Amino acid sequence: MSDWNIEQAEELYGVNRWGAGYFSIGDNGNIKIAPNHRYPDITIDMQEVIDEIKSEGIEFPAVIRFHDILRSQVEIINETFQKVIKEADYNGEYSGVFPIKVNQMREVVEEIMDAGEPYNYGLEAGSKPELMAVLAYNDNPDALTILNGYKDKDYLTLALLGRQLRRKMIIVIEKYSELEMLIPLAKKLGVEPMIGLRSKMMVRSSGKWAGSSGDRAKFGLSIAEILNVVERLRQEDMLHCAKLLHFHIGSQLSDIRKIKEAVTEGARLYAKLVQEGVPLEYLDIGGGLGIDYDGTSSTTDSSRNYSTEEYVADVVWGIKQICDLEKVKHPNIVSESGRAMTAHHSCVVTNIVGEIKPAGTTFDVSPTDDEHILVKNMRELYLSGDQYHPQERYNDAAGYKQNAYEAFKLGILSLPEMARLDTMYWQILADIHHSLDEENQFIQELEELEDMLASQYLCNFSIFQSAADTWAIGQVLPIVPLARLNEKPEVRCSIVDITCDSDGKLSKYIEGTEISDNIPMHSLNKGEDYHVGLFLTGAYQDVMGDMHNLFGRLTEVHVYCHDDEPGDFYIEEVVPGTSAEKVLQTMQYNTESMAKTIKKQIDRQVRKGSLAPREGVRWTNFYEKCLAGSTYLSVD
Ligand SMILES: *Cc1c(COP(=O)(O)O)cnc(C)c1O
Repeated sequence: MSDWNIEQAEELYGVNRWGAGYFSIGDNGNIKIAPNHRYPDITIDMQEVIDEIKSEGIEFPAVIRFHDILRSQVEIINETFQKVIKEADYNGEYSGVFPIKVNQMREVVEEIMDAGEPYNYGLEAGSKPELMAVLAYNDNPDALTILNGYKDKDYLTLALLGRQLRRKMIIVIEKYSELEMLIPLAKKLGVEPMIGLRSKMMVRSSGKWAGSSGDRAKFGLSIAEILNVVERLRQEDMLHCAKLLHFHIGSQLSDIRKIKEAVTEGARLYAKLVQEGVPLEYLDIGGGLGIDYDGTSSTTDSSRNYSTEEYVADVVWGIKQICDLEKVKHPNIVSESGRAMTAHHSCVVTNIVGEIKPAGTTFDVSPTDDEHILVKNMRELYLSGDQYHPQERYNDAAGYKQNAYEAFKLGILSLPEMARLDTMYWQILADIHHSLDEENQFIQELEELEDMLASQYLCNFSIFQSAADTWAIGQVLPIVPLARLNEKPEVRCSIVDITCDSDGKLSKYIEGTEISDNIPMHSLNKGEDYHVGLFLTGAYQDVMGDMHNLFGRLTEVHVYCHDDEPGDFYIEEVVPGTSAEKVLQTMQYNTESMAKTIKKQIDRQVRKGSLAPREGVRWTNFYEKCLAGSTYLSVD
């Protein structure tokens, strides 16, 4: 192990770069978590958490939530805004909201509300069910509730119910027709609404969500429409209800310049509207605060080129400057950061359950008497060692392999001949790779060769359930071994999941400051678990999972840090994952009658005498046990 240390592991996996101070590699080679930003010295050893989870008989995969990270993120954004507002002599307050679509889990929303209480931190909803949740969960009368998304009559009525409960519920008008629905409804019910206007922004953001702004954006009002709304409200004697101007130019904004541009545009619009007599009080800058998933601090889609402090400073100073120039009172600032609040707090911990090696199985390659010339040629190459230039050897091997394939289809090569030829082919590639590694030579296909020779580590999870964005939009998520980081990782591999879908694999890995097609991990030791962590899954990934292959939700483990507890942590709650039974039921299966059917069929075999009665009972029980059990692979 002398040729490897944890600094090198850090360099390779970049834990500090994307870990935001919460994750690092401990001296013992295990991943270490410092979940509370106020007490960075209180740290948790991931392996100890894993051991405790196992000792409670809970199987992996599991989502581990560090609730202190959630609280820390809420505190950081609120305190950063408060600090900058003070420094800038800004005459408004910060009044943030958490958009629950980013993670609607009740425990997450509750924790955020609790941590945000001292700052009157509120919630944002974008659909009817989300609105029903925020109505029940945001009961702080001083905190905002922002209502976005397309609305129908029930949606608007629920919002007015919120007003009846004396909540600061702001209905953000996305479309002119929503106003036409709202006005008579509010009058009929005799409830005064608080109204927000969502502006369709001219600034073009970059990245995956660039379509959220510009003329073709799905949401928001053009300047002409905003003026029509204002006119209409004035006619109805309701202009005093217009309280907030909103914009959201996209999620995961990677370039700070776009944010500054949007703030300038939004603040200018705000000031002009106030000058027109619209009594706005809040400027809502939406979400978009990015996460540095790949640790490069750059403008790649999975990164951001700014810090949270820089973001906050640009927002506050940007709004102040425009409002001062326009001689308009500083608005209270609302932001709707979801990703930045939640991404770090949860990770998926799972195990590698197998390895698929391209040249994993070898076959006796000794020559036989009458073997085909193609096999002989491959053997000559196989035995030639360094006689040829690696490129030449590679070309020849690939050529022979192609010819052999053609010959096999024509029935010319036998199965054992194919097996021998194939074994030698892969051995040749491994030799070439090895010699190139040693001599630092370069051939054009080296990268291709690396890919071809990489193992596939079979990982006990489903991409579609736990990391949807890696598949859907090419998002990079860090994946790291959770222990043995003081050992050199010698196996190049890619991570494939257990779905029957060839898309079920991670295809982008952080390797230093680059993105690779595969990643070095440690060789698997027989009889020893190898746990890996997929990090930064707390925003969107946690709740976007689907039912592909019927894997369902993972077991959840909620971890709190506490310095009086052994290991500085305790497991507060375990929420079991979806059982096979539950998943089947959501697809309309009647699992009870399925179990009965199986039992009937087993009984029939017992009556026929082809199964012993006791054996029959055992099979019946086994089927029922599997229905109640986990959908993921069991390792015991
Ligand atoms: C999705 C969304 C957000 C959250 O954006 P993040 O980039 O996750 O912070 C905020 N506001 C609106 C209107 C949204 O649609």
